[in-house]
Parts: sequence; structure tokens; C-alpha cells
Amino acid sequence: MTEIATRFAPSPTGRLHLGHAWSALQAHDFATERHGHFLLRIEDIDPGRARDEHVSGILEDLIWLGLAWEGEIVFQSQRLALYAMALEDLKERGLVYPCFCTRAEIAREIAASASAPHGPDGPHYPGTCRGIPATVADARAAHEAHCWRLDVAKARAAAGPLTWTDGNGMAQRARPEMHGDVVLARKDAPVSYHLAVTIDDAEQAISHVVRGVDLWHATHVHRLLQALLDLPTPVYIHHALIGTASGERLAKRNGAPAIADLRAAGADPGELIEAMRAGRFPNGYRLLDLPDDAPRQGTS
Ligand code: GLU
Repeated sequence: MTEIATRFAPSPTGRLHLGHAWSALQAHDFATERHGHFLLRIEDIDPGRARDEHVSGILEDLIWLGLAWEGEIVFQSQRLALYAMALEDLKERGLVYPCFCTRAEIAREIAASASAPHGPDGPHYPGTCRGIPATVADARAAHEAHCWRLDVAKARAAAGPLTWTDGNGMAQRARPEMHGDVVLARKDAPVSYHLAVTIDDAEQAISHVVRGVDLWHATHVHRLLQALLDLPTPVYIHHALIGTASGERLAKRNGAPAIADLRAAGADPGELIEAMRAGRFPNGYRLLDLPDDAPRQGTS
């Protein structure tokens, strides 16, 4: 039997808020209740937004909450060579292509098209650079800023039908095409979230990815990448998110309480965690409904 391992994988772009604490708690308890391992990964690949002081803030907050992780912390910024190797492999197989479009060009192209397909994150990339012949694309890529996009139709055809198992033990059919040609390496960063997270979950031998339902749609892409890169597929459990009483997701802009603020206000971390375990949240906050197409959380 494989060992149970979960992870909490925050991006150090700010202090942790109540929603992060809830997510860390879900992953932590899933592992510890099963004598498994709870690991920590810092997703610091966004050069514009990741900050060292937020890393120390996150560690401080987790320690204060009593959500201890096991072993070395993995920093994505130290693993860029690994992601580059995977991207190289996909390039050699013709499954990714360089895209030179600016945001404004993409927006114009979409506005001009009568029926641009939409995915969960907005309109699909219209595919402008998909058809550039490889020799031309290579020559341009040598001196023009570009990102790398997955040719999702081609990748899908190469991988065949795919499923993964959810927390209820049910098979979920992967529909990565709902996103269009996603970015795997950005103009300003050598890797995107999708590629890095997929590789790291495999490298860290994560058996169960326990994360927010906001990432439910992303799992469809991750499953495809696993097939392309010959990586194992964990079980995926997507938990409901904490929101405001009026149903808004937590974010800095709607005043989501930072864990550091709760601490400064004299909150008792043990009480906070125990209350959340019992499904009770600080005043004004509650669990939000799951989107219709996401499975209800299960733990079988
Ligand atoms: N780094 C992501 C975030 O902070 C979470 C990644 C994941 O759990 O897959 O939203």
C-alpha cells in the first residue's frame, strides 16, 4: 500500500488568511488521521509577487496554528531545472508551441471573433500562434518574448481518455480542453503553476492532493500533464472554501482576516482550529457551496 502524503502549497504573495488556514487544516488532518505525512511546499515561482518575508510569515502562521509539517520544505524556485527538463521533453514531442501574443493582441482577437470558446478562467486563447511553422517559431523565439502553450488538442490525442479518482473513490473524467491551450512557461517565469504543481506532487510522492475547490478545474489540466510526463496520479479531494456570509470568496480586498491579525488580536490558535474542525468559523464567515460540476467532498 502506498503511504499517505498530503501537502499544503501556498504561494508567498501575502500573509495567510482564514481560508488558507482552513485549507492547510484539511490537508494536515487528512494525513495525520491516517498516519500519513503532511508536507509543505512553497510555490514561489512568480518573480513579480513572491516575497521572502511572506515565506517567513507563512511558516510563523502555520507554527502558531499548530499545523506542523514534516521534513524539508520544498521551494519551487529551487527546482526550475526540473521543470525546464519536462518542458524540453514536451517541446521535442511537438506538444507545446511558443506564443508571441501580447495580452492586448489576444483580447483584440477574441473581441473580433463571433464565438470565442470560454473556459472556467475566461475566453480560450484563440490559437493565433499555434500554426506558426516550427522553423519560423524557433527563429522568432530566439529574440522575441514568448510563453509556451500546451497544444491541448494534440496532447489530448496523444494521451487518450483519462480519469482520476476523487475523494469518494469515484472516477472523474479529465476534460482539459475546457481551458484551451494553457500556458506552461510564462514570458516572465520559466514555468507556470500547472506544470510546476504537477511535477512536484509526483516528486514529493503526494498520494492525496487535498486543496480548495477553486482548483477543481485545474485538476483537469494536471491529469493531462501527468499522462504526458508519465507521472503517477494522486487522489484529488477538493474541499469547500470559506467565504463571507454573503457568499463572497475570501480575499484581501473583502477584508479576509489574516492569521497574523487574529494572533495580534489575542485569538487562541487551539480554539480556532478546534472550532474549524467542528465546522464553526469566526463570525461572518461560512463554508461556500461547491460548484455544480465538482464532486461533494469525500474521504474514502
Ligand atoms: N499555490 C497555490 C495557491 O496558493 C495552491 C496550489 C495547489 O494546492 O495546487 O493557490
